[in-house]
Amino acid sequence: MSDHPEIDCPCCGGKILLDAAMLLKGSRFSCSNEYCDAVISLSSESHDVTKNALDKLNEIKKVDSI
Ligand SMILES: [Zn+2]
Repeated sequence: MSDHPEIDCPCCGGKILLDAAMLLKGSRFSCSNEYCDAVISLSSESHDVTKNALDKLNEIKKVDSI
């Protein structure tokens, strides 16, 4: 499986590539849409977005473990 799961951008519906380990280290991940300014990080104001992303990663991990 990929180490860079994708989540849907909350702003434009595009893809944001994530690395959970990097995210936890404080890295920021931006939307792949060049016209979109969405950035998520653990320290950002968009905490809900980040939490949703991590929830999604956890879901992916569960699926992987089956
Ligand atoms: Zn976007």
